[in-house]
Amino acid sequence: METDWNSVQYFKKSEFSDPDKMNPELIKALDIYRRLVGNPVIIHSSYREGDSGQHGKGNAVDIHVKGISLIDAYLLAEKTGLFNGSGVYSWWNSRGLHLDVRPLKKDVPKARWASDRTKHYIGLNWFFIRKVYELEKKENENGKQV
Ligand SMILES: [Zn+2]
Repeated sequence: METDWNSVQYFKKSEFSDPDKMNPELIKALDIYRRLVGNPVIIHSSYREGDSGQHGKGNAVDIHVKGISLIDAYLLAEKTGLFNGSGVYSWWNSRGLHLDVRPLKKDVPKARWASDRTKHYIGLNWFFIRKVYELEKKENENGKQV
């Protein structure tokens, strides 16, 4: 099944590296997410040829949201209830989220994680959230746009 791009409100086909290989469920979820956040959602990475993870299955995107904090972007993604995998990446040039619609196995919870440096994964915990919050607060004080 392919995405009916005419029914997608906020994203253009050209924003995805190989749009026909993207899971239509993910595009739909992203569109709902974009409406909820009310700010531009920038796609960093989508389908990746040869990737053994969710990107290689067309189930995942890496994104950031303009104008809101990373933690808010994460919490709003949670609010949709549509993403079975989500990761919070504080070290990207534009700090952002990995969001995916991986199929869930019975009795396996949705995947949630954080990454504070390259190839380093930690649980999404209060210490991490606090660190990101402080980082963004400092940037705001210095006048840097999120
Ligand atoms: Zn990703």
